[in-house]
Amino acid sequence: MQRKQTRTVHVGGVGIGGENPIRVQSMCNTDTRDVAATLAQIRELADAGCEIVRLAVPDDRAAAVLADIRRESPVPLIADIHFDHRLALAALDAGFDGLRINPGNIGGEEKVDVVVRAAAERGAPIRIGVNSGSLEKDLLKQYGGPAPEAMVESALRHVAMLEKRGFHDIKISLKSSSVLKTVAAYRLMSGRVDYPLHIGVTEAGTLVRGAVKSAVGLGILLAEGIGDTLRVSLTHDPVAEIGVAYEILRALGLRERGPEIVSCPTCGRTEINLIRLAEQVEEALRGVEEVFTVAVMGCVVNGPGEAREADIGIAGGRDLGIIFRKGEVVRKVHGDKNLLPEFMKEIEKFLEERRG
Ligand code: SF4
Repeated sequence: MQRKQTRTVHVGGVGIGGENPIRVQSMCNTDTRDVAATLAQIRELADAGCEIVRLAVPDDRAAAVLADIRRESPVPLIADIHFDHRLALAALDAGFDGLRINPGNIGGEEKVDVVVRAAAERGAPIRIGVNSGSLEKDLLKQYGGPAPEAMVESALRHVAMLEKRGFHDIKISLKSSSVLKTVAAYRLMSGRVDYPLHIGVTEAGTLVRGAVKSAVGLGILLAEGIGDTLRVSLTHDPVAEIGVAYEILRALGLRERGPEIVSCPTCGRTEINLIRLAEQVEEALRGVEEVFTVAVMGCVVNGPGEAREADIGIAGGRDLGIIFRKGEVVRKVHGDKNLLPEFMKEIEKFLEERRG
């Protein structure tokens, strides 16, 4: 996979673009004014592997608590601002590491001057975020709707306002809830600029639908080498977005974090409650950062063989679980209720041995 060469920008200590890994980010859905709740969610996201968190800054009251949040945050923070340049200045004053703001929407050249100067002084990049739902009227008319070309042109107008001021610390996103339009827009943009691209399918939907749409859209782009940071947007707890993001990256061999859990679909040979066991194993391993492969398979006839590549696995029999490593049987566990605890013990043992 040949990655498109992009410039590097830094959001706090996190490099995006160039040779940096593809960064995983998300956005809090707490009320930003609720400092405790927002910080709790930032920490949860960070623990799940989120490297940059964005917060909505809708008003002065939200802006007033940004410094308190920034001081305690374990990861760099981006302020998401619409229209009001004063909120952008307040976020930069509060030590925020980046802005998501479209300069064409903040009320004129003078305001753009002030925001760009402040961002440059603090080394904070600006993400231009174009959304198919809020394109300029003239572009909608010219392209007959929110076409990918219209999205790209809209973003380039905002980019030009920053470049005119010598500001190049830019990232760009072009989001549409249509997977195909999103892909087309990013392809076009990738051919036009070398700024890092923040990729995502917006308003993708609830957990399963949203994960599938994101995986298809982001998967196509990443496989073509497009995309430097990503956000999976789900109508769900944002912490789930991080797991989906890493699974997309893992599937493409781009990044790994935590165990890969392979499990069989079950069939007429399955004699244990495998679906529940697989879910329990997944839950028990949540938060583990080490990279290894765990298999949860329905039968002893095919399970270990099918999951030969797994570091450690379990295969069900009649009221029995067979634990195997790299396809070789190491132990048998009797009794349905013992399968999970005994398997977890074996996983712990495997990890301890591997750690040396
Ligand atoms: Fe069926 Fe066994 Fe394959 Fe699972 S591992 S799908 S139980 S044959």
